[in-house]
Amino acid sequence: MYDPKSMVADDFINHDEIMETLRYASENKSNRALIESIIEKAKLRKGLSHRDASVLLECDIPDLNEEIYTLANEIKQDFYGNRIVMFAPLYLSNYCVNGCVYCPYHSKNKHIPRKKLTQEEIVREVTALQDMGHKRLAIETGEDPVNCPIDYVLESIKTIYSIKHRNGAIRRVNVNIAATTVENYRKLKEAGIGTYILFQETYHKESYLRLHPTGPKHDYNYHTEAMDRAMEGGIDDVGCGVLFGLELYRYEFAGLLMHAEHLEAVHGVGPHTISVPRIRRADDIDPSAFDNGIDDDTFAKIVACIRIAVPYTGMILSTRESKVVRERVLHLGISQISGGSRTSVGGYAEEEEEDSSQFEVSDNRTLDEVVKWLMELGYTPSFCTACYREGRTGDRFMSLCKAGQIQNCCLPNALMTLKEYLIDYASPETKAVGDALIAKEAETIPNEKVRSIVRERLSLIENGERDFRF
Ligand code: SF4
Ligand code: SF4
Repeated sequence: MYDPKSMVADDFINHDEIMETLRYASENKSNRALIESIIEKAKLRKGLSHRDASVLLECDIPDLNEEIYTLANEIKQDFYGNRIVMFAPLYLSNYCVNGCVYCPYHSKNKHIPRKKLTQEEIVREVTALQDMGHKRLAIETGEDPVNCPIDYVLESIKTIYSIKHRNGAIRRVNVNIAATTVENYRKLKEAGIGTYILFQETYHKESYLRLHPTGPKHDYNYHTEAMDRAMEGGIDDVGCGVLFGLELYRYEFAGLLMHAEHLEAVHGVGPHTISVPRIRRADDIDPSAFDNGIDDDTFAKIVACIRIAVPYTGMILSTRESKVVRERVLHLGISQISGGSRTSVGGYAEEEEEDSSQFEVSDNRTLDEVVKWLMELGYTPSFCTACYREGRTGDRFMSLCKAGQIQNCCLPNALMTLKEYLIDYASPETKAVGDALIAKEAETIPNEKVRSIVRERLSLIENGERDFRF
């Protein structure tokens, strides 16, 4: 039976409830009165239930779809302004004991080179990332208790935080590793991680079991209940996501929102972020083998509907998406993107002899090019990592976010960290565009006192000081 408060995956991601939601959404996809009333509800900016949001996703009335896009854009502006937070993935190890059929790291793939970075190699990778200007990383590993145990991950996090090259520093390490125990989550928390990210891949249990035929990940319930264990272990910022293309997107969309409702109902705080990856080509993986691929229009609609349904949850877009697609969906609700990414183990510091990528990157531009492009589109790239360093995590973060107060920190922090980036890493062209943007944006800080502190700190950054934050 559907129960968002249950701790059992089959209850809070209840198949019958999803099927009933899809039936309801399909029946009402042309129901103007109902859709208008849902849009009115969404305008209150308190989010929507999985049922209401599923109706908007299915809506086939053109003018109401336009309203949905407009509202998504307005909500994005209200909560995130023009800011886009930058991050990079760092692959530590691609050893994996699982059999995920959509990922080239699956254990039966005998020809992909297997690599695990030594601590010295991590220093090289992180130095290269710092020299690009990154401050926020998401570390990625396959699942392998022998080759990649939790102690290795913990040691690697310590190494990453310890590296200070020139003015560089990694100030927030998010972690994307396999579902694990409460005890291990507690260790990750103690190691000072930001968000724990785990993609569900698919919420459809039957498909999940088929797509994950072997290895510990085959256990759907253990995987789906991982966020609860993470929260029990003290990690209060968790990041959800599905791999669009594996199952029917409407099913995944409803499942994703039910997962968010579950976390909110049980822990008082929903996911910190939602990622929206689509399946990509990779070594021995052909995306056309999966017949649930979604086109760019559908993808844009999903992004807009997630934005409306969970206004307080950041949304992450990776370099799986091309420049064109990124440009299209940024304003609909994306708050964080990666730039200059390498999706292979050791990809930042080394010229690769053999390809060990997890997926093909569609956006191959450098971080400097991405930063300049964002600014030319009117966005403010941000290298901010302030919240978790100031203890603003979990429900503390969410209550500030819901009260609209986090905004008072985000813009000043974005401008100060962008300033650091421009001085330390940007090309002259990017710097020129960025300096003009900072001058303009600093004037829009509503609080006069904060505005004057920011002006003062921007000059201190010019004079070599670093790492200011609100
Ligand atoms: S998706 Fe993760 S768990 Fe599955 S094969 Fe790839 S690296 Fe391993
Ligand atoms: S102030 Fe907090 S919410 Fe805002 S950009 Fe920085 S880390 Fe994110």
